Amino acid sequence: MPHPNGTPGTPATHLLPSYLQADKLGAWGNYLRQVDRVTPYLGHLARWVETLKRPKRSLIVDVPIHMDDGTIAHFEGYRVQHNTSRGPGKGGVRFHQDVTLSEVMALSAWMSIKNAAVNVPYGGAKGGIRVDPKQLSLGELERLTRRYTSEIGIIIGPSKDIPAPDVNTNEQIMAWMMDTYSMNEGATATGVVTGKPVDLGGSLGRREATGRGVFTVGVEAAHHIGLKIEGARVAVQGFGNVGGIAGKLFAEAGARVVAVQDHTGSIHREAGLDVPALLAHVKETGGVDGFAGADRLDNEAFWGVDCEILIPAALEGQITSANAGRIKARMVIEGANGPTTTEADDILQDNGVLVIPDVIANAGGVTVSYFEWVQDFSSFFWSEDEINARLVRIMKEAFAGIWQVAQEHKVTVRTATFIVACQRILHAREMRGLYP
Ligand code: GLU
Repeated sequence: MPHPNGTPGTPATHLLPSYLQADKLGAWGNYLRQVDRVTPYLGHLARWVETLKRPKRSLIVDVPIHMDDGTIAHFEGYRVQHNTSRGPGKGGVRFHQDVTLSEVMALSAWMSIKNAAVNVPYGGAKGGIRVDPKQLSLGELERLTRRYTSEIGIIIGPSKDIPAPDVNTNEQIMAWMMDTYSMNEGATATGVVTGKPVDLGGSLGRREATGRGVFTVGVEAAHHIGLKIEGARVAVQGFGNVGGIAGKLFAEAGARVVAVQDHTGSIHREAGLDVPALLAHVKETGGVDGFAGADRLDNEAFWGVDCEILIPAALEGQITSANAGRIKARMVIEGANGPTTTEADDILQDNGVLVIPDVIANAGGVTVSYFEWVQDFSSFFWSEDEINARLVRIMKEAFAGIWQVAQEHKVTVRTATFIVACQRILHAREMRGLYP
């Protein structure tokens, strides 16, 4: 008789939790489908796969703050620890008006996969506040950050769960988080967050690490498919900490960044954009729109731009069945977390577009977060060259292993990354056993 819940291993007396309904759940549904695709390759560990479909711990907090105009505003905050089998939770904190619990669950799960893929000794976690930080004054932003940190203080800590920057959060926010946690503990605990300012226990090279990792893995992948970086045309969505740095490194390596899209619009220049000038323009004006050295491009037309490399480095769910068929790139490198839906993944695969998935492509950030955490524990700090060299070594080795698994099993690089990562996580799970 088929199981009433349709999920093997779930006792009939337990109703299927809402978060197991993949089709209704945006990013989390996308993640669940990715897990389903890897399950046939997990051998005897498939017995534990249900672990990956349920976050270990999800906390929703109310974050009330005094606004500058004297009113009191309430924001909803989250911290989800998806898995801690391989080590403490680890993952960023996102401030965005569209953040939901289900989105944070997906992002926390992708952190578990990512951390296992590069073999850093962490589980996966993520946090967020449903707020548009651009509407807040600096004082309001600080009060919001401090109250949120205090609320999630019951589950974070240097050996429990270590937050870091993500969309719309930065070094200053990490400094406030570290200070708030330390004040509550009565002792300075630099290792409670990563992505801190260098003068407060931060690591050299952390700010550029995600973009540098995207570039490193991109170059390795290009080599495998015989694509030359010199002269290759690159299109980038999102020109912040990830897309901006990756674009800069590709341009320095001789590629032409021909199109960029962000929340202010899309721009194009076939001969290649002046990336340093564009970075300066974005810093000054807050976006790519109005950049003098380019033509405006329709936002929809961005996806069909002639290019060899496309780097989505903004938010999730950007490459969908509606635009995937128009992508002309030979390779998509996911700088963002979850930018491609499962349907779009299949379209790209059918069209021969190589997708280098988020869970390896953007793992450079958390890899240097790991270096930062180790340096904080030992109170001994490395040079930037040392950091970059270690980062490049880890990324190259991890990618080489994943590439080999993809060839062996004739699967996509995404499924190969999930095979490597899920085996590590579930092997740890199995060895630790169930308590009690
Ligand atoms: N937010 C980044 C990510 O999505 C970095 C997380 C971290 O360093 O902990 O990978």
